Amino acid sequence: MTDGLPADVHAGSDLLIGVDVGGTKTLALLVATGGPDGQGPLVVDRELGPSGAGDPSVVDGIASAVRALAARAADRGATVAGVGVGLAGFVDPSGIVRSAPNAPGLVDQDVRTRLRSELGVPVVVDNDANCMAVAAHAVIAPDSRHLVAVTFGTGIGGGLVVDGRLVHGAIGFAGEPGHMVVDPDGPLCPCGQRGCWERYASGAGLAWLARRAAEDGRAPSLAAAVGDPALLRGEHVTALVAEGDPGAGAVFDEYAGWVALGLANLIVLLDPQVVVLGGGLIATAAELLPRVEEHLARRFPAATRFRDVRLVASPGGPEAGALGAALLVAAEIWS
Ligand SMILES: [Zn+2]
Repeated sequence: MTDGLPADVHAGSDLLIGVDVGGTKTLALLVATGGPDGQGPLVVDRELGPSGAGDPSVVDGIASAVRALAARAADRGATVAGVGVGLAGFVDPSGIVRSAPNAPGLVDQDVRTRLRSELGVPVVVDNDANCMAVAAHAVIAPDSRHLVAVTFGTGIGGGLVVDGRLVHGAIGFAGEPGHMVVDPDGPLCPCGQRGCWERYASGAGLAWLARRAAEDGRAPSLAAAVGDPALLRGEHVTALVAEGDPGAGAVFDEYAGWVALGLANLIVLLDPQVVVLGGGLIATAAELLPRVEEHLARRFPAATRFRDVRLVASPGGPEAGALGAALLVAAEIWS
């Protein structure tokens, strides 16, 4: 899939580059927006760069990964029309990065202008969950105009497509549902509120639920897995769930209930056709999605249309963010 360009995007074609700046690596993809026979976007080459974590020169790292891909595209007779960059955090409407937990070196930088002047092509910089929403919209739900994407990793991110358009809000912070309050008496969140959705339904939330169950004696196998409940992480729960452990299964079901509670609020607010779930925890989609669907069905017991919302795992796995970033810049250039 990455060797050579499809016949109809060969010499003279314009390709896009999408970059996902992650906590452990930077992934850059060379993307053709339309494949042969009406296929969706195609990834035709990849380049890995260093992570943005603690690296003040992360913009240089992005630029060099982009240059490497652009050089290989040129060898094949194609050119790069634009670059999209996705990152955890948020970017204000002027393109300045206001928060970037995985790449602190980008904060307060005008990444868009800097990359545009270094690379000489249009550049778009956006939140990574927004990018995932765009990729999901293009790949699995091109006919839907209302889509909610939520990423479940260390924290919770989100992207909203309303009436066919990505919503950014006044300062670029729209679609960040992790800080919706789901329990006003819940644990403190670094944002200053109590009981944010992220405290329960992120990977960190799953670990917290597991610790609580182990300390209460509800999940002895979880307590035994690490010796000290304080060391429990989400992976310990999902590993034991895969083995059919009932205590871990109960914790995972409690977790799925919190996931469903936040999704129910988003569904009521936004009336989407599709809800896309992404992020690290969606590696467990086969175990998680049926449980979340069950909780959602209990929350919407009447025969309302909410029962018909499609709940799907993000396509493209870990590449969805970079793919969506490429599609974002394509939309800016060609629409
Ligand atoms: Zn919060």
